[in-house]
Amino acid sequence: MTVAAETKAIATKGFATHGPEAKFEPFEFTRREVGANDILIDIEYCGICHSDIHQAKNEWKDSMPATYPMVPGHEIVGRVSQVGDAVTKFAVGDIAGIGCFIDSCGECAGCTSGHEQYCIKGATFTYNGVEMDKVTPTYGGYSNKYVIDQDYALKVNATGDLSGLAPLLCAGITTYSPLKRFKVGPGQKVGVVGLGGLGHMGVKLAKAMGAEVTVFSTSPGKEADAKALGADNFVLSHDPEAMAALASSFNFILDTVSAQHELMPYLNCLGLNGAMVVVGVPPEPTTIHQMALIMGNRILAGSLIGGIPETQEMLDFCAEHGVTADVEVISPDRIEEAYDRTVKSDVRYRFVIDMKTA
Ligand code: NAP
Ligand code: ZN
Repeated sequence: MTVAAETKAIATKGFATHGPEAKFEPFEFTRREVGANDILIDIEYCGICHSDIHQAKNEWKDSMPATYPMVPGHEIVGRVSQVGDAVTKFAVGDIAGIGCFIDSCGECAGCTSGHEQYCIKGATFTYNGVEMDKVTPTYGGYSNKYVIDQDYALKVNATGDLSGLAPLLCAGITTYSPLKRFKVGPGQKVGVVGLGGLGHMGVKLAKAMGAEVTVFSTSPGKEADAKALGADNFVLSHDPEAMAALASSFNFILDTVSAQHELMPYLNCLGLNGAMVVVGVPPEPTTIHQMALIMGNRILAGSLIGGIPETQEMLDFCAEHGVTADVEVISPDRIEEAYDRTVKSDVRYRFVIDMKTA
């Protein structure tokens, strides 16, 4: 690398973990220089997704092994502070977002249809990934700057405090996409399993789409919150009588649970032609009996975040409907505490790190 190129690299301050049991520590590194199609974002807020915890602790070791040092974070919002010569989508001062991936091949069926997250060559995830050269590691949003190709950044239409917008970039799109895919709307009964970061967005979005929403939760103390978030009903999922009363009554159920659990009790709540989408990724697999799908012509599907066009659509939908995440803003020295509380299902309903002071 020439001295000139070196000096254009962007000095960045982040917070990294160096192993499954390690604590987060300040970590200084450089972002690439701003290329013709790139923007530099000064990060203001980054949400803490349970996927950060699964990866930081290497809980997905078989499917998505951890590489360290790891700077997690894929719910990023900030302000554009520099643009490359060819950039047309953003101007300096704009608010921009970054979600779970920052590049893809651009040529496969997934990429050309706007579903870049399913890129056949493997999309470049925002952290714990590699650039499309398949060598250069990516570092995420627990940091103060990010350089990204404008085509993979999102436009955020907002004024005032941005903290409640950051979680839309993962929790928002991950719940919006399956709700749209199964055409959730007025007259439909929708269940949301697990009232955490994703779950609370699922409740808000399904309500904004006009559905009747029931929260399935393991936490009795969340009932009042569920109703305040817009849920019509709240059910304790470990109450067999309450679950039995809901048999065959839902059009759609979204499962956001991060830990090991049974799917059958929820499948049995689906009515004729009902669909359940799993988005939660517990470390261990689960089993179902085929009969739970065969009876009632039911569908069980999965869903991974959303592509760039749909993520932009979701952000615009949220701006139109006034939907933001309920957040608890923390300083970067409280990441461990936030992880511990999230694992204990004690997040109300998304921790967001204030990166402005990093
Ligand atoms: P979160 O904030 O921790 O919420 C998960 C919720 O699951 C908890 O609040 C809790 O809700 C419930 N839960 C936790 N342990 C449980 C258990 N043992 N049994 C039953 N319910 C339990 O997590 P999140 O950030 O929303 O993420 C949820 C999952 O989605 C994670 O596995 C994450 O990796 C995954 N994810 C997937 C995608 C995708 O694209 N598919 C994107 C982002 C995240 P209650 O207290 O209400 O029971
Ligand atoms: Zn996430």
